[in-house]
Amino acid sequence: MTLQPRIDAKQAAQNMGDVAPPYKAQEARIEATRCLYCFDAPCIHSCPTGIDVPGFIKQIAEGRDAAAARTILEANPLGASCARVCPTEVLCEGACVLLDRDQRPIEIGRLQRHATDYVFAHDIEVLSAPTHKSGHKVACVGGGPAGLACATELARLGHDVTVFEQQQEAGGLNTYGVAYYKMPPKISLDEVRMIEGLGVEIRTGVSVGSDISGKELLEQFAAVFVGVGLGRTYSLGLEGEDLPGVVEALDFIKEIRTKPLHEVAVGRRVAVIGCGNTAIDAVTQSKRLGAEVAAIIYRRGPEAMPAYEFEYDLAKRDGAEFLFHRQPVAILGDAAVTGLRLGSTAVGSDGRLQVDAQSVVDMPFDMVIKALGQERMQENLQRVFPDLQFTKSGEIERDFSTGATSVPRVFAGGDAANGGSEVVDAVAEGKRAAQSIHAELTGATSGAHVQESRLGVPTGPATGAGINCPVRVPALEADYHKKQGGE
Ligand code: SF4
Repeated sequence: MTLQPRIDAKQAAQNMGDVAPPYKAQEARIEATRCLYCFDAPCIHSCPTGIDVPGFIKQIAEGRDAAAARTILEANPLGASCARVCPTEVLCEGACVLLDRDQRPIEIGRLQRHATDYVFAHDIEVLSAPTHKSGHKVACVGGGPAGLACATELARLGHDVTVFEQQQEAGGLNTYGVAYYKMPPKISLDEVRMIEGLGVEIRTGVSVGSDISGKELLEQFAAVFVGVGLGRTYSLGLEGEDLPGVVEALDFIKEIRTKPLHEVAVGRRVAVIGCGNTAIDAVTQSKRLGAEVAAIIYRRGPEAMPAYEFEYDLAKRDGAEFLFHRQPVAILGDAAVTGLRLGSTAVGSDGRLQVDAQSVVDMPFDMVIKALGQERMQENLQRVFPDLQFTKSGEIERDFSTGATSVPRVFAGGDAANGGSEVVDAVAEGKRAAQSIHAELTGATSGAHVQESRLGVPTGPATGAGINCPVRVPALEADYHKKQGGE
């Protein structure tokens, strides 16, 4: 097997450095002054967390970066991560009215990054929790974006929150699963520390189902939010899949994020199976880590790929190759991967994609990265909460607007409920669930205090209004979700 580190520390720092460098303070202000501060700003409506975009941009224009960060983080506690990983081109920036004037949109993501970086760099605390506590305890299962957003919102509403996270660090994909050149792990960990600063207890290395049961959670907590992610990558179902050199994309990306970059082993010739955004992260990072050849293998054409156009462009700029209309039929090798047997695909008479047996060829690869999307967590979650119901495709069945599930006092949001979407969607779902948990616990709507809890637990005092979480404009949402999903 020829997987080995291929670049030194200096090259690694260069190749894996920021793909979108930060603004200098003056640059940020100049960009901020381009904003029209629209009255009915479409950029707000296109953000699933409803950040007051013109509001924070105005604050940056006035030189009030900490205030801008507060505006952002109050609406989205993972605003620093989202500034880097959100598909802004199809969300806020894609909705900017300047596009209608044939001008370039405001660089909202970079401005958001500018403000949030400022408060983390200067240790400025912009979020706070009320000193008066509600007396209610809530558990969040999963310390990824949905769980952290739910925990933050609940803590800011005065509840005691404990997050249970299986990994050694919280943050979920923001910590372990994003391309390094988009965001180093520190950004996510800064957000985790900020959330802990609100009094949220984060228990890492704890597996719900093994270390603590669902029954115990419901005995110890007034409500439980399930915000876990997805499972392992789908199997290719091919001979040779267990050979050394065949890895899952998220395992590869996790290694990049947890090891010194110059120690990460990569193949000389890398094949990535799949063409979603994770596949692009894997192929691009393979090239940046020194692979001579890194190619996406995708059974359909470019028009059908789930990856965003800008991700595709980035990968092409990095020298990644794309083999469209190709499907692996076997992974070759004895002691380790030596290649892929690939066939061309075409739509058959039954309307399904088929491999043309005459077209099969062997191509040499010493690393195969699987990036076909991830399994649902239905089986694991049913062991924790036997009465939890699931959709036909294996996502947790829940009320979209409240996160309420089939199990009383259990709420859900994030990837296990939506099947895998953007970080900002998970944040929005965590927030929404927190607001409905708060309402259920206190009987409060928008801060109103009602005496009787619908959850049958003692009511605490109302602790303040929930945080506004608008619904995304349906047309934009439809357009946006066209690009969702991994394959
Ligand atoms: Fe500013 Fe564009 Fe939003 Fe208008 S739509 S407020 S110009 S960022």
